[in-house]
Amino acid sequence: MKNPNRETASNLEELPNIGRAIARDLHSIGINHPKELIAKNPFQLYDQLCRISGKKHDPCVIDVLMSAIHFMEGGEPLPWWSFTDERKNTGNGTIDFSMHRTKHRLLNLSPDATDVVASSEGTLIMSIEKELQTRSESKCELCGATDELGVYEVPPTSDGSADQCILACEICRGQIENPDTVDANHWRCLNDSMWSQVPAVQVMAWRMLTRLRAEGWPQDLLDMMYLEDETRAWAEAGSAEAVEEKIIHRDSNGAVLEAGDTVTLTKDLDVKGSTITAKRGTAVRNIRLVQDNAEQIEGRVDGQQIVILTKFVKK
Ligand SMILES: [Zn+2]
Repeated sequence: MKNPNRETASNLEELPNIGRAIARDLHSIGINHPKELIAKNPFQLYDQLCRISGKKHDPCVIDVLMSAIHFMEGGEPLPWWSFTDERKNTGNGTIDFSMHRTKHRLLNLSPDATDVVASSEGTLIMSIEKELQTRSESKCELCGATDELGVYEVPPTSDGSADQCILACEICRGQIENPDTVDANHWRCLNDSMWSQVPAVQVMAWRMLTRLRAEGWPQDLLDMMYLEDETRAWAEAGSAEAVEEKIIHRDSNGAVLEAGDTVTLTKDLDVKGSTITAKRGTAVRNIRLVQDNAEQIEGRVDGQQIVILTKFVKK
């Protein structure tokens, strides 16, 4: 939680819970300096913001405003969601009423059922976000950043519950959704987050590592990573790369090879970097498939783990 000196803070983004987006919103309603928040009514600011932008903002913006005003008026820096109850108790009815009026004026629409749907969805998203804040200790579950956090639903999802979502910062979400903008170095953070106990986080770590595997180090991390079958299926289901790159290992007769199979060498093979020759007819038990190369398997010959080309083996 940011805790600046409130006497000298001059930038809205220095305040607890205020990120770039909300700072921009505040500028749009003429609030440019932290001290301008003192003695302001958060509900009025919110109302003003909705009116000026012509859209209904998520009501948790009010919580953020409350937390910033509270701080500038001498209070402790507190997470925004600790103001949610207070907002609901204070503002119940008032906001909806003013919003209806605002919309009516702006868009010449009658208040109707769609507002109710919109606000109940808003509430649902908010409560998931809160659940995720708790799970993640208010950090991006991928890179650990603490600013501009938002909910990312890990596709494909069935119910969008918190189990199927992660809390991620703007940078992570942006790069997940726009592969062209990916900065591989940003994702070195996966070195830590891939060990998360949360399946949704494991899925995203696996997908990003798969996307970046050509860099080398992501492949090393993938090799260390362990996913439960169910989690792996989820990870693969949403990863176009994995589907495209799904590779099948076949022996010299075209039979499909699987990890754990026993194969026989079809010719004498010199083992690189040693004096060993693996004789034709040698059985290699419990083979391992080389994940990104359909022509290679690994197995133990004369007590040594070696890479063998699939065209020289048969089941
Ligand atoms: Zn992040």
